[in-house]
Amino acid sequence: LKKVPKRLLVIGGGVIGLELGMVYQSFGAQLTVVELTPSLLPGVDPDCTKIVEKTITKRGGVILKGARAERWEKTADGVAVSVVTSEGTQKIECDTVLVAVGMKPRSRGVGLEELGVAIDQRGFITTDERCETNVPGIYAIGDVSGVPMLAHKASKEGEVCAEVIAGKKAAKDWVTVPGIIFTDPEIATVGLTEQQAKEQGLTVKVGKFPFIALARALAIQETDGFVKVVTDTKSGRVVGIHIVGPSASDLISEAALALETVATAEDIALTIHPHPTLGEAMMEAAAASLGHAIHIANR
Ligand SMILES: Cc1cc2nc3c(=O)[nH]c(=O)nc-3n(C[C@H](O)[C@H](O)[C@H](O)COP(=O)(O)OP(=O)(O)OC[C@H]3O[C@@H](n4cnc5c(N)ncnc54)[C@H](O)[C@@H]3O)c2cc1C
Repeated sequence: LKKVPKRLLVIGGGVIGLELGMVYQSFGAQLTVVELTPSLLPGVDPDCTKIVEKTITKRGGVILKGARAERWEKTADGVAVSVVTSEGTQKIECDTVLVAVGMKPRSRGVGLEELGVAIDQRGFITTDERCETNVPGIYAIGDVSGVPMLAHKASKEGEVCAEVIAGKKAAKDWVTVPGIIFTDPEIATVGLTEQQAKEQGLTVKVGKFPFIALARALAIQETDGFVKVVTDTKSGRVVGIHIVGPSASDLISEAALALETVATAEDIALTIHPHPTLGEAMMEAAAASLGHAIHIANR
């Protein structure tokens, strides 16, 4: 955009909608987010989402959940979008609309069907753990080969695929693909949420450590958010880590390593994390899941 819109309406409260919406909000745009489902960022730990939602509204933004954008029309000074909610239809006037819904793979009409390459119902090219399709010698990587649609997942698949083609033994055998949402504050996650773990039949214990109790976060005055560690009580294994707060995008790599190396909460809690750093929140959250946190009351 050549200039910052005064009023920006974002259709879709997913990752891209919230990231770009918050960027323009920080430049001064009045932000409205319209989301079809009852919550923003479906699939993300709801406690993390709440913190970002609170920030958007504290800065004057409006979030409409369970709301469907139906049509738009031009007005004298912009666009009016009709939005249907449980309370009826309202027209929201704005200068710019960002449509941040409907990412889909571009796999049809490029000759793949003629070659017999299998494509699933959602349009993703079907591949095995070596990135090979059902047609020997044809490979697919990245967004077109399935979720999560993330650059680092595409890149790792590229490495695997290149090694396989070069005749080496390689396969996609990772435990987890970390995901980051560059909102303010950032959200970063690996593995299962508490809800997802329960749905898989696991009995979980959750340890949560708020940044407000952390020296480094106080020093940089970024105290919103927390680190949450989800642990399988039977094995002690960490099955998910969810962070919302300062430098969440950098902190998540340690969490990814923990899941890849099948670490327990005790492994993280007993690892000495240097002071004063944001990383200490990870150690404290793991300790909290064991009832051993030092800087908060254990429940
Ligand atoms: C707004 C936005 C923000 C994002 N932010 C992040 C982020 O912060 N972190 C992250 O990890 N991921 C992010 N992503 C996702 C990330 O961009 C993708 O996961 C990544 O680019 C996937 O790489 P890829 O090579 O599979 O596909 P692409 O990067 O889409 O590359 C595919 C290329 O193929 C070309 N192409 C398509 N059809 C044909 C054809 N028939 N012939 C020749 N060429 C063709 C396309 O033009 C494109 O250049 C974001 C995506 C969007 C849209």
